[in-house]
Formats: sequence, structure tokens, C-alpha cells
Amino acid sequence: MEKLNKGLSQRVNLAGVRFALQLFTTKRRHALPHVAVENISTVDWRKVRAAGFKGCVFDKDNTLTDPYKMCFHPDARDSFRECLRAFEGRVVLLSNSAGLEQYDPKGSEADAIEKKLGCPVLRHKRKKPAAEPEVLERHFGAKTGELVMVGDRTLTDIAFGNSMGMLTVKCEPFTSRGENLFVKLARRLEALLAFVLRAAGCAPPDHPLVQAGTDFTFTAS
Ligand SMILES: [Mg+2]
Repeated sequence: MEKLNKGLSQRVNLAGVRFALQLFTTKRRHALPHVAVENISTVDWRKVRAAGFKGCVFDKDNTLTDPYKMCFHPDARDSFRECLRAFEGRVVLLSNSAGLEQYDPKGSEADAIEKKLGCPVLRHKRKKPAAEPEVLERHFGAKTGELVMVGDRTLTDIAFGNSMGMLTVKCEPFTSRGENLFVKLARRLEALLAFVLRAAGCAPPDHPLVQAGTDFTFTAS
């Protein structure tokens, strides 16, 4: 029974499920990102930096790499380097596996990713979307409202970032290969929610560093 519970908790993100339920009441706007892109290559990181943001937090799987892979996806590599330059290295990876005390207690997976991708991996205790503002603020020496969260999942990455007042950037996944059934189902639910919320006129949370109408992508005319 204990084994079953552990296996289930690795597949089902209970904090994500709880947040999904709150979406129908008080946290609807937290499900919508400030910036939505196909992949990060269209984000103008210099413009984001110029708006006053001080650091970036990246999810790894399906944001920077294919799931469980240790090298950058070709659509993300150059943009990630540009982000590092724009933010003078103030960039960190935040994963729900590597660096998470529950699954990577010794940080060995985080160490391996750091070596391979050349970017620090945050050591933390709670699974996204559960917030750990003190961990981010200690790492960056900045308020969470001055940071950017980039990820492919609404119920984890975007909910996490919006709940702490961050600028949120959502990209589409590179592939569903290697993802478990729960993640595939969650993606469908997320897409449906975003569609319904936008159709109902819902907008992402207001952000003090973002002027109305600002577009942080290169696709802006
Ligand atoms: Mg991901």
C-alpha cells in the first residue's frame, strides 16, 4: 500500500490537483501566463530585462530539453544563451525532480544537470506549484515579483509563478514522448481551462513591471 501511494504521488502532483480545483473559485487568473509562445526562441530577453526583471527561473523538461534528456532542444539552445547574457547569468533551473529533496535528496541529479547544461539547479523542498518564495529570494537576492518563471505546464510552472507575483512565460511542449498518462491528461485539462478562461474574458494577473500592451516577443509588429 505504501509503495502504491509513493508511486501514485510521483505521478500525480497533489498541489497541482488542489490548484486546479481553486481555478474554479479564486485563482482563475493564475492559470493564464503573461506571455505565451511556441518555444522560448521568440522571447526578447533584453526587453524583459529592460522592464526591470532581475532573474529568470526555468523549468527543464519540455521547456529547455526533451523530457528526461540532458541536452538543449535546438529550438531553445540559442535563446537560453541569450537569456543568460541578458540577465548576466542570473538564471536557474527549477525542476519537480532534480534538486527536489523528496526525489533527489543528495542532489546528484541536479549536479549532473548543472554539469551538462551549465546552469545552476535550485535545491528545494516543495513541488511546483507549491510556492517557496524564500528559496528564490535567497538565491537571487531579489523579490519574487522581480523574477520571471518560464515553463510548459499551466498547473505547475505558470500557477507557481503567478502565485508569487512573477512574470510568467508559457511555452508549448516539444514532445509528449516519454510523458506518463497523468501528464498527458493534465495537459488536455490545462488547454481546455485556458481556452474557457480566455473565452470568458479572463486575463493574467496584473504585474507592476508590465505596462499595458507590452509584448515581450520578437513577433510583435
Ligand atoms: Mg516541463
